[in-house]
Formats: sequence, structure tokens, C-alpha cells
Amino acid sequence: MSNQTGSGRAVVLGASITGLFAARALSDFFKSVVVLDADMFGAGTTPRKAVPQGNHIHAILPPAYQALKELMPEVIEKLLAGGAHLFDGGRDIKWTHLGHWLVQGETGRTFIGATRPFFESHLRQHVESLDNVEILSGHRFLEWKIDSSHETVLGVLAQGPREQVDLDSELTVDARGSGSKLLKELITLGFDEPFTEVVEVDLTYTSCLFQAPDFSPDWNLLLMDPDAPRKWTGGVIERVEADRWIVTQWGYFGARAPIDDVGFKDFAESLDEPDIADFLRLAEPVSECHQYRIPKCYLHRFDQLKRFPDRLVAMGDAVCKLNPIYGQGMTKAAKEGVFLWESLSKFRENGSDLSGFSGRFRKEMGNVGANWAWQLTSGSDLAYPQTKGKRPFNLSFINWYVGRLFARAETRLEVRKALMDAMALVNPPESIMQPHLILRALGL
Ligand SMILES: Cc1cc2nc3c(=O)[nH]c(=O)nc-3n(C[C@H](O)[C@H](O)[C@H](O)COP(=O)(O)OP(=O)(O)OC[C@H]3O[C@@H](n4cnc5c(N)ncnc54)[C@H](O)[C@@H]3O)c2cc1C
Repeated sequence: MSNQTGSGRAVVLGASITGLFAARALSDFFKSVVVLDADMFGAGTTPRKAVPQGNHIHAILPPAYQALKELMPEVIEKLLAGGAHLFDGGRDIKWTHLGHWLVQGETGRTFIGATRPFFESHLRQHVESLDNVEILSGHRFLEWKIDSSHETVLGVLAQGPREQVDLDSELTVDARGSGSKLLKELITLGFDEPFTEVVEVDLTYTSCLFQAPDFSPDWNLLLMDPDAPRKWTGGVIERVEADRWIVTQWGYFGARAPIDDVGFKDFAESLDEPDIADFLRLAEPVSECHQYRIPKCYLHRFDQLKRFPDRLVAMGDAVCKLNPIYGQGMTKAAKEGVFLWESLSKFRENGSDLSGFSGRFRKEMGNVGANWAWQLTSGSDLAYPQTKGKRPFNLSFINWYVGRLFARAETRLEVRKALMDAMALVNPPESIMQPHLILRALGL
């Protein structure tokens, strides 16, 4: 994508995955982009304090690879030079789901194998290297600057390590993740709070990094999704940079893999398939084990609000926090970044100033990822009777249909690919309802 002449300043709150993709998109349309983050960034690639999920597996799905190719191809080169892996989503992922091992074969869908801190630090280095982008770490958002009629955000006040900063902004992005207080701030500014859809999953992740020099399987990622609702524990192994493997095991409803070596191995023995237990017998841990609890997932329906401040957009986990076992959060953020670029590009082509931009963006953004992901993942999680959340009337039918497709994906690569494309946000959920897939589900 080419640079265009920009004007004015844009501000991004949060320099994590969402904020970095957003800043890259904005850099083509504004003279300057200032990204504020409360956290202090170290030079290395270790997990940082404000992003504790960085200790856990972070799958990078094909649309994120595509977004990098479009917005910052240099980052792919740097990731690979640093030891990350590119791999095919069908040939190189060994995947069991709902009790079925799926057929492996080439799909042409590229995943990236890397740890989250490694990925994030390369994104940050690249965005920071752009001439018109400045990242201010240690700067905590304090309050919105809004016009006298309380309609338009004009900028932000933030607390830096030594002093307050006061920034005017033509467009401001809230990418503060699940720590965003935008719901409460909207009320203070005289707006309504959006309706929030919630699914209480009560999930716990436990993860550890390993080395296994003698291990050379024919896959880069092994995914053991549980056979829901019979079983609510699962796990995953992924090959990451520096010749290491990350293993994450999870449990719903109070089940959790312990963080000690013996307990972590015992948990693997309790899974339906032996693959993770077999791996742990020959692997050496090279990090401590970390645990992370996800009580609930949510989707704030900002898109449904009648009134919302102009010149402000919210993106990423500030809008929608997904169940991580489906690995979609960063990919959703990357797709939203591309959508921000495309939306700004259309606005500029039409010669429009930014008035009304955020309203349209807010209404349409969900259709590039959040709404798709929410529909699919909440449907799967609600298959457990223990999960709390609103069940759609057709939930049993949909889950029966998806189960039939997974059964067919044991032998049919095109069915596996269609399921993967929907779950990886390549295609919308309704793509699994195409006539040829319905016939497959019916065994025809
Ligand atoms: C255990 C776990 C595993 C996951 N696994 C995957 C996976 O496999 N694949 C995947 O794609 N996604 C995964 N995710 C989701 C992924 O981590 C998020 O979707 C992703 O980080 C995008 O988040 P974000 O940038 O919107 O927010 P975050 O990453 O949470 O970042 C928010 C940023 O805002 C900053 N901030 C917060 N408040 C303020 C403030 N007041 N002022 C200034 N700055 C502020 C923070 O310091 C932080 O840098 C997982 C999540 C969890 C919890």
C-alpha cells in the first residue's frame, strides 16, 4: 500500500497489537500519529506487564499474515530472520476437534509460528521506525477532550512519567484492550452505554516453553480441541522462534493444568489423545509455567448505539474479547487495521473531511471479524450446559451441523479447509452453509 499525503494528527491509545496495526494504517493519512501506552517497553522480547497473556500461545492466522503483507511486509521478513515459521494451515496443523482427527493436506493458507512478545516487538519496532509515528510509553490516558456541544472528541490528556501531555487529535483510536474504560467514560461524556453480549466461559490457560532437539514431527502446530460437551480440557503445541515449542493446556469450569512440572504432565495424560503427554516426555522446559484465567468473553455493541462521539473509534479487545482457544484476537485486530486503512482511503477519495467517519466505521467494523468470531465461538462455548450466556434458538441445530462437518473433515480436505477458513476469519460463518458443504454434512 502506498503512502498518501496526510494532514493533522491522529492519536492511538494502546501500543499493543490493535494499536500498532491502527497506527500503521493511520500513518498513511495523517501528518503525525502519536501512540500512547501506559506500559514501559523493554528492549527484548519477553512478555510485558500490561499484557500477561503474552506468556501463552498466540496463533497468528492467515488473515493476519495477509494484513502484514499489505501493511508492513518488512515485518514478515524480520520475523522469519528471527526464527519464526511460516506454515500451511492444512498440511502442517495436526488437528482434532469434537473427537475427529482431520485430514491433513495443502490449503494455501499461511500461519505464522512465533511467540506473542516476539511478534509484538517486531510490529512495534516497525511502526516506531515510520517517520511520522511516535510511540510514547509510560503515558497513561487521563481524559477526553471534547467540544462544547459534547459531540466531537478533540484530543486527549495523558499522564507521562514526568508531566501531563495535552494532545489535539483529528481522529482518536481507543485500543486499550480489555482495560479500556470507554463504557464508563461514555456515560461521563453524556452518551449511553452500549449493550454488551457476554458468555461466561470460566477458562484457565497454563503454558510453558520447551526445547526438544530430537523431535521432528510432520506438523508445526498440534491442536487438541475438546470433544464438547463431553470433555472440557484440551491443549496445543506450536513450533516457535529460537527452536522452541510452546505448550498450552486449558480447562473450562475450574479444570486447569497445574504450573508444576509433574502436574502439567499429569494433566496431559488426562487428555483424550496421548500426543501432548508423549511430547512432554521428551521435551525440556525452558521457561516457568504461567497461568491465566478468562472468566468471560464479551462483545460491546458500540455499533448499535444511536449516539457516539465523532472522531473517536474503538477497536480490538476494547470492543470484543474472544475465547482465546480459537486464536482469533490478534487476527481480528489485524483485519480491523486493514479495514481502517481502506475506510480512510475511501473517505479521502471522496474528498470528505472526517466528519461522520467514526459513525460509519463503528457500524461496519464488526463485519470484518468481531461479529463473525463472536457468532462462531460463542456458539461452540454454549454447547456446554455449564457455560452462561444467551443461547440462540437454533444453537442445537448449528452445533449438530458443525459436528457433522467435522466428521466429514476426517477424509475431505475441502471440508476441513472450509471449517478452518470460517474459524480463522478468512470467510464469514455463513460460508460453511454453502450447498456443497450441506451435502457433505448429510453424507452425500
Ligand atoms: C490467554 C490468552 C491467549 C490468547 N491467545 C491468542 C491467540 O492464540 N491468537 C490471537 O490472535 N489472540 C489471542 N489472544 C487475544 C489477544 O491477546 C488479544 O486479542 C490481542 O492482544 C489484541 O488486543 P489489543 O491490542 O486490543 O489489547 P491488549 O493486547 O490487551 O493491549 C492493550 C494495550 O493498551 C494499553 N493500555 C491499557 N490501558 C491504558 C491506558 N489507560 N492508557 C494507555 N495505555 C493503556 C496496555 O498497556 C496495552 O499495551 C489471547 C488472549 C489471551 C488472554
